[in-house]
Amino acid sequence: MALGEFELIARHFTRPARRAVLGVGDDCALLSPSVGMQLAVSSDLLIEGRHFLSTVPPEALGHKALAVNLSDLAACGASPLAFTLMLALPRADEVFLRGFSEGLFALADAQGIELVGGDTTAGPLTVGITVLGEVPPGAALRRDGARVGDDLWVSHPAGGGIGDARLALEVFRGRVHLQGETFSQLRRAMEWPQPRVALGVALRGVAHAAIDLSDGLAGDLGHVLTQSRVGALLEWALLPRSSTLSALPLPLQRQCVLDGGDDYELLFSAPASARAAVQRAAAQAEVAVSRVGEVQAEPGLRVRWLDGSVLQWAARGFDHFASDDR
Ligand code: ADP
Ligand code: MG
Repeated sequence: MALGEFELIARHFTRPARRAVLGVGDDCALLSPSVGMQLAVSSDLLIEGRHFLSTVPPEALGHKALAVNLSDLAACGASPLAFTLMLALPRADEVFLRGFSEGLFALADAQGIELVGGDTTAGPLTVGITVLGEVPPGAALRRDGARVGDDLWVSHPAGGGIGDARLALEVFRGRVHLQGETFSQLRRAMEWPQPRVALGVALRGVAHAAIDLSDGLAGDLGHVLTQSRVGALLEWALLPRSSTLSALPLPLQRQCVLDGGDDYELLFSAPASARAAVQRAAAQAEVAVSRVGEVQAEPGLRVRWLDGSVLQWAARGFDHFASDDR
């Protein structure tokens, strides 16, 4: 017999509440945030065919759905508390549900965060998550805090770089041909992003502004520049790239690194006087960071290439309602 809605929730999404006063199973969840903290709230919606390919393993989908939300909390410097899950499923597929919940809870456990509620309905495969976190008043890292003269930094995997998730997508689209372990590594970057929660927390009081890279470096940096009313210069030589990406033609590297998407790394600005503090924060969070440019007064985004020339780069990232795809 097919699994019903309530058995499905009970079997795959109900675990004893730990920190929450009341978890899954009532009309509301009840949480007790730490006294004096501000609540940080963020939601993300993932739709099959638009945000993920139908080839994604269910474990990876469970992981990524939560990871992209935690990445938003990280970009604010908030510590995660709990999350809710909105799920539309074409059918109650046990194999899918087992894998999905495994990937989801593995990351939840690793981050010490619990699932406290949600909604489940039949429909085209869609995963929505809302995460709740907390941050001391005034300590959240915002997009509007960058100042002229700040360094710009990005986090990245040690020994790796940004742009690999976009490169994996280009392989799936058949525009680039890579196989074996090289492709597996790129696919891991795309399907198993690691939210930089510890780094975000460690950057409280150090970074002036931060954003997570979900729609591409140029576009996401563009949001920071617009909201902070400043411009920026990026140094191509300093932008971290994996050995796989750096072996490919330059136009493809530019596309993946600057316009990329799905990196889920943190981009942040900090005063030059805080370089040692940034490195300490990164070491504490066990994440690599690279200084990649500086905030300037002149509006717009510029890139200095290896030959020393400086050119404008459109500060525009992926937009669901814009038809072009560069
Ligand atoms: P209501 O009808 O009161 O909105 P539901 O029948 O939708 O309640 O859900 C029953 C309980 O199961 C609620 O506590 C809800 O938060 C929880 N729930 C439903 N779907 C999910 C899900 N996908 N993950 C976690 N909890 C869920
Ligand atoms: Mg409901």
